[in-house]
Amino acid sequence: MVGIVVVSHSPDLARAAVNLALQMVHGPAPRIEIAAGTSDDRLGTDAARVAEAIVAAEDGGGVVVIMDLGSAVLSAELALELVPEPGIQTRLVPAAFVEGIFASVISAAGGAELDAVARDAEQALQAKAAQLGQTQPPIEAADSIIAPAAIVAKATIVNPDGIHARPAALIVEALAFVDARVMVATDRSARSPTALMSLGAQAGDVLRVEADGADAAVAVDRILALVRNGFSELAGRDRLGRETVGHDRLSPHPIGVSPGRVVGPALRMPDPITEPDPTIRVPEAERPAAIKRLANVATDTAEQLRSRSTAAGTVGQLLEATAAMATDPDLIADASLRIRDRGLTPERAAWEAIGSVADTIGAAGPRQAERVSDLYDIRNRMVSSLTGRAAPGVPDPGHPFVLLAVDLAPADTAGLDTARCLAIVTEEGGATSHTAIIARSLGIPAVVGVPSATAIPDGTLLLVDGITGEVIKEPTVDQQAATAPVLRPHREKLMSPGSTADGHRVALLANIGSARDIASALECGAEGVGLYRELYFLGRTEAPSVGEQVNACRAVFSRFAGRRVVVRTLDAGSDKPMPFLGYVEEPNPALGVRGFRTAASHPELLHDQLMAIKVAAEAETAEVWVMAPMITTVDEVRSFAQGADDAGLPIIGVMIETPAAALQAELILAEVDFVSIGTNDLAQYTFAADRHSASLASLNDPWQPALLRMVEMVTGAAADSGKPVGVCGEAAADPQLALVLAGLGVSSLSMAPGALAEISRSLAAVTLDVCRRAARAACDSDSPSSAREAVRALLTT
Ligand code: PEP
Ligand code: MG
Repeated sequence: MVGIVVVSHSPDLARAAVNLALQMVHGPAPRIEIAAGTSDDRLGTDAARVAEAIVAAEDGGGVVVIMDLGSAVLSAELALELVPEPGIQTRLVPAAFVEGIFASVISAAGGAELDAVARDAEQALQAKAAQLGQTQPPIEAADSIIAPAAIVAKATIVNPDGIHARPAALIVEALAFVDARVMVATDRSARSPTALMSLGAQAGDVLRVEADGADAAVAVDRILALVRNGFSELAGRDRLGRETVGHDRLSPHPIGVSPGRVVGPALRMPDPITEPDPTIRVPEAERPAAIKRLANVATDTAEQLRSRSTAAGTVGQLLEATAAMATDPDLIADASLRIRDRGLTPERAAWEAIGSVADTIGAAGPRQAERVSDLYDIRNRMVSSLTGRAAPGVPDPGHPFVLLAVDLAPADTAGLDTARCLAIVTEEGGATSHTAIIARSLGIPAVVGVPSATAIPDGTLLLVDGITGEVIKEPTVDQQAATAPVLRPHREKLMSPGSTADGHRVALLANIGSARDIASALECGAEGVGLYRELYFLGRTEAPSVGEQVNACRAVFSRFAGRRVVVRTLDAGSDKPMPFLGYVEEPNPALGVRGFRTAASHPELLHDQLMAIKVAAEAETAEVWVMAPMITTVDEVRSFAQGADDAGLPIIGVMIETPAAALQAELILAEVDFVSIGTNDLAQYTFAADRHSASLASLNDPWQPALLRMVEMVTGAAADSGKPVGVCGEAAADPQLALVLAGLGVSSLSMAPGALAEISRSLAAVTLDVCRRAARAACDSDSPSSAREAVRALLTT
């Protein structure tokens, strides 16, 4: 990549300009070196420093130097003579300082060559000139300048602000590594952010895209997808950029929720098993054959389980025990009688017979929950086999695949084999659903809200783009060719603790839930852990023992010695079902027994978890904080604080995830040491909108002003109490929204590790005062899109 050197009299000025530009880069950034101030820390420039910076910025593609004024130019010229490595190609660019840095960073990140980067920087002022009405070029010109073989396509710009800086950066980024010459409006290179911005293209304008070269089709497809998706700026808007009302807003549309672009064969997640019809009767003459079928299927099911039981020690023994249950003579006899005497179908007979054994065992107490769960597993396998359907659970076809599902349970997603599962496409779900959260942390590209995804036949080749939300059936060879370079998200490291440009600290922490997440949090330089999700409980048929929990916690604490680790106690129920809690069917699980409410029915679970956290904390040196999820009343807070205090835990808090908790933040803070706002649930409960519903995704938009006002209520109470308030929902990972949250008074932001570096750059580019103004503007807006616009306008003035 081309490297960039920024020469300025003022280190603060240079850092702020660089940070502003880096906000537009989502993939790998070019090497950027700042040579600012004199050696005795005064305002000024120093040729020797510039020469060192040139050497450090060289990355094989040459170096572009952007200078502020006066002696900066003289120092840069002199530096060329001082550079100890004469081979470095260097261009001193007479560019406007901020625009030049901005254009060169985006252009270099997009893979442009040295002269092109220099030209983009030099021409960067044109965009401003065009904005001010000087020499505005027409959007569409008549003739193509590209060869007749070029691919030409058009798309109407639908996002309200047209092609401003962010869309321009997205286009340049989408074309990185794509081998094609690409022009828009016939004479502007689509690889140049300034050329794109200087189009002045507005909503409703038709953008003409032309490309030739090996990847021409890919290039055109990518740009069209971005344009049609409104550069992801359409939340709350219709296709013409108008504010939407009522029904329109609720139709599902694909949303890319975890980045990466891959190609692979489709594989459908089997449908969940449904209860067989109890009213169907088998004619008497056919009953002996039905009984035989049932017995054969029981034997086959046992054999399937035994064939997997060779794998691992304890797991193998458990599978062997389960296999024996499938052919239990009493069970088969009971089911056979139901066929012989009542004429039930074999699947209905298996359903009832196994259900009755499970009820009897389940009544013996929660410790038998594992057996009950095994029995249901056998029942589901037998019913699927008797009705000719695929076995439940994530299939293993023996080759990589793109998983298609209506939605996925967290246990299914968390257990996905990242070597096999190339991407996830679901019909349901939103950006804060667990499928999305876990896919992001595993680095599996994902698109949610794709209507009829599960109607796509198995084996169909699919291209999935987790940024643009595209899902293309049978992609062309050209489209497939451009998938490799962005196969897995790039992990960038956080270089310094989170802080605004004027030194206001905002701790940048990681959300983790698995051993894989611990590794990426460390790799990305997290300052600590802001949410240790209890995913080690997921998919378990039996609660982990205290010993197991101690080990799980120590594995995290030991890696974050001396740093903060916030452990959340069990957040089971609803979207995180945990079989050991029993199988209580609730008509409305999100409003049912979940989160801290399970402590009332299973106090021993909370007690064991708090003890395990305490033991692990004592054995390690991490600064352990503990918090309870899904709190609604002050009494719950008192009860949790008492339990945690009894366990000897020193720093106790709760999550604010319901409007009731936000409204009582002041009273809650009087009982605990800190609060952490779970914006994913707080949005779902504030808007009464299921966070897993694709149709309601726009209501769960974290930019909803009503949600931000809830946050404001909590931060206001926290400021009065002098206690810390964090945000650990997905809102924390949005670079602009993070500024709003900081402005509202949030003292820590916790997110998927991969987002940390970008959030840190975003904060470092602005002062606390700007954050506060952004917060005010967002809270006072009347819709998510106007909140976004208000903040964007503030940041670009
Ligand atoms: C939240 O609700 O914002 C949160 C962080 O918890 P979870 O996503 O695990 O429900
Ligand atoms: Mg939550």
